[in-house]
Amino acid sequence: MDEVKNFLEEKIESDLKEGHCTSVMTRFPPEPNGYLHLGHAKSICLNFGLAQQYGGATNLRFDDTNPVKEDTEYVDSIKNDIKWLGFQWKDEFYASDYFEQLYQWAVELIKKGLAYVDDQSQEEIRLNRGTVQQPGTPSPWRDRSVEENLDLFRRMREGEFPDGSKVLRAKIDMASPNMMFRDPLMYRIIHADHHRTGSKWCIYPMYDYAHGQCDSIEHITHSICTLEFDVHRPLYDWFIEKLGIFPSHQYEFARLNVTYTLMSKRKLLELVKGGYVSGWDDPRMPTICGIRRRGYTPEAVRAFATKVGVAKRDNLIDLSLMEWCLREDLNKRSNRYMVVTDPVKLVITNWEDGKEELCTAPKNQECPEAGTRTVKFGKELYIEREDFMENPPKKFFRLQPGGEVRLKYSYIIKCEEVVKDAEGNIVEIRCTYDPTTKPGSEGAWRKVKGTIHWVNANDCRKVHLRIYDRLFLEPDMGNIPEGRDYKEFLNPDSLVEKDAFAEPNLLNDDSGIAVQFERNGYYAQDPDSTAEKPIYNKATGLKSSY
Ligand code: ATP
Ligand code: MG
Repeated sequence: MDEVKNFLEEKIESDLKEGHCTSVMTRFPPEPNGYLHLGHAKSICLNFGLAQQYGGATNLRFDDTNPVKEDTEYVDSIKNDIKWLGFQWKDEFYASDYFEQLYQWAVELIKKGLAYVDDQSQEEIRLNRGTVQQPGTPSPWRDRSVEENLDLFRRMREGEFPDGSKVLRAKIDMASPNMMFRDPLMYRIIHADHHRTGSKWCIYPMYDYAHGQCDSIEHITHSICTLEFDVHRPLYDWFIEKLGIFPSHQYEFARLNVTYTLMSKRKLLELVKGGYVSGWDDPRMPTICGIRRRGYTPEAVRAFATKVGVAKRDNLIDLSLMEWCLREDLNKRSNRYMVVTDPVKLVITNWEDGKEELCTAPKNQECPEAGTRTVKFGKELYIEREDFMENPPKKFFRLQPGGEVRLKYSYIIKCEEVVKDAEGNIVEIRCTYDPTTKPGSEGAWRKVKGTIHWVNANDCRKVHLRIYDRLFLEPDMGNIPEGRDYKEFLNPDSLVEKDAFAEPNLLNDDSGIAVQFERNGYYAQDPDSTAEKPIYNKATGLKSSY
């Protein structure tokens, strides 16, 4: 069956067919002012994915036009995250590589009478732009001569003027119905060190002046950005047309929004700085490094990006879709282990003291080629407290007084007696086992309704669990009520820590991806782990919790 094509694929195919371009060149243009989040992952998958699909290539271009917020720490993390997602860029560029060219083009526009130096303050400029109903008021400096503009712009560059004292503006139309055309700013003065160009420049180009020209320099054929930039498109085209340079074109798609999730570098930075999370890579963060630490695989993230698709209208995607993509991937690939998170002791009274036996269990039921593992079985075990009920309701098929269950990969046992402490808490469940029911033996066919997991008290290992839940309680974090702070919606129970007992094989897992704790969920070993204290992050449960 033919897949339905999205509007970008359709556009690219028609451009190729009609000869508007001979190959596809895209770019991913992050501003290095924070760590990448899921929204960026969507954009990366789209830009790199389209180029791959049509035999083209993608550049990585850092949009480093604002020296005050940017840092090399972010540059490194961004590159790392893109590679982790499984993509390789053709060339690595920086908007700052083009500062000289952009300056020369600005000079060209001045010479054409299409740009001027304005001495108004940013505030005056804002007030004089007018409104959608009312035309703007032209600046008193709008009709400076070309010579004067050239002189002033050169002196701006040379550092003669303080921050905010002058700007360079395009001279377009102060009455345009598109506010973007009301003499937009091209350059502002910022006396600040830039993370790459140092103190070489003290004037910096605005996004609108820089972005299209950078695309054009790199011969980007399809410059893909999010919907809020559609009002910028005419300006993008205007600069390219007036300069007569390579005609890159901009296309917009809907931002990715996910329920219970905030997707704004600025706000995520606030969460980090305010100590609401442990860092950019806190497993609750929607950053790429956060979900990676949580146990997400690049395969799952790419599958999610594909499932989300490309929309022309803003929408809100269910967080459970992302979790579903992770489960789909891990179910096929992850190794299984038995881990008891809330242990109660179980003693097999008719088992010989000191005797131990090996049980064989598949590494992954979904993948027979993965082979098997062995687990030691003995007289004293731990099971989950919730797998036993003294007075169970009708449909409870797990362990109960007088009842039978199968212990996974092992015998059927029967509960004979419950031992309690002075407060009435169950401290031990005493059972007998049926020796004929060992898997692989003749009596193994005997069926009981419940199967529960267990660990052997003698050799199980203590591990520490970090059980994560969504960071926010409100589904639509992009639309919280006016006057409320997003931090009010933080989930106080987004992290619960506890110890658990694991089968020893867990500690030798070398699969490099999250593992499945049987009957529980998927967990990834945390980088904070040590030999003394192994730590596991819950990536997701086995079923959707929402
Ligand atoms: P934020 O608002 O979180 O700071 P941004 O758009 O300012 O994000 P940039 O570094 O400027 O971040 O963006 C790099 C690219 O990623 C841009 O092309 C941008 O459109 C895209 N992008 C950012 N957020 C999303 C999102 N939620 N969904 C899809 N694409 C996104
Ligand atoms: Mg931005």
